[in-house]
Amino acid sequence: MTDDAISEAERKMQFLYALRSKGVMDKRVLTAMEKVDRGAFVTGHFSERAYEDMPLPISCGQTISQPSVVGMMTQALDVTPRDKVLEVGTGSGYQAAVLSHLARRVYTVDRHAALTRPVKKMFEAMDITNVTVLTADGSFGLPEQAPFDRIIVTAAAEDPPGPLLAQLREGGIMVVPVGQSDTVQHLIKVTRLEQSFDYEELMPVRFVPLLEGLGQD
Ligand code: SAH
Repeated sequence: MTDDAISEAERKMQFLYALRSKGVMDKRVLTAMEKVDRGAFVTGHFSERAYEDMPLPISCGQTISQPSVVGMMTQALDVTPRDKVLEVGTGSGYQAAVLSHLARRVYTVDRHAALTRPVKKMFEAMDITNVTVLTADGSFGLPEQAPFDRIIVTAAAEDPPGPLLAQLREGGIMVVPVGQSDTVQHLIKVTRLEQSFDYEELMPVRFVPLLEGLGQD
């Protein structure tokens, strides 16, 4: 084995170890995350830190989430291979790539065309064919594709957005960071029951805010 091959294998082991030590135990999630090279989603000089368990800046003043948070959110979403999933907040495309290995179909939307355009191209190059990348204000969901089995929001809302709750199928799960400020937010798991919604608070998190309207690009 060359030095490069050794360090790559080691890097992968450390990456997976960090996920497990932070509570990501679901085998399917770990396998999906093992398949997706986070280094491909981080550009510039931050790419050196792509395998560390930390959020990193991407373009448009946004961030690629911390791998263990991606893992915990994906685990809470409990995706099955039959599911149609909506992600609000494409960002770098990393979370969507992880979901592509778990779901039947993924729709991911971002308000910045400057983010969705390169992600679309990257998924074509990676031969990821079950993800549709769209530019839209995701707080209104994607009515033309609703209902969804799973919805994941990767930007923080003050409350779980009403249109997203309405587009969740009965028995469906939504995972969303909720908080009144940039600093105090909680990850919430919402399950749609027959006549109501069940809310479970999972863990403190820190996300960029869910903003209204399209980005200026
Ligand atoms: N899931 C991403 C990280 C997302 S960062 C990843 O894996 O890299 C949060 C993203 O939410 C940003 O890209 C931001 O542009 C987007 N966003 C914020 N408000 C939004 C809205 N109303 N609709 C769609 N996207 C939104």
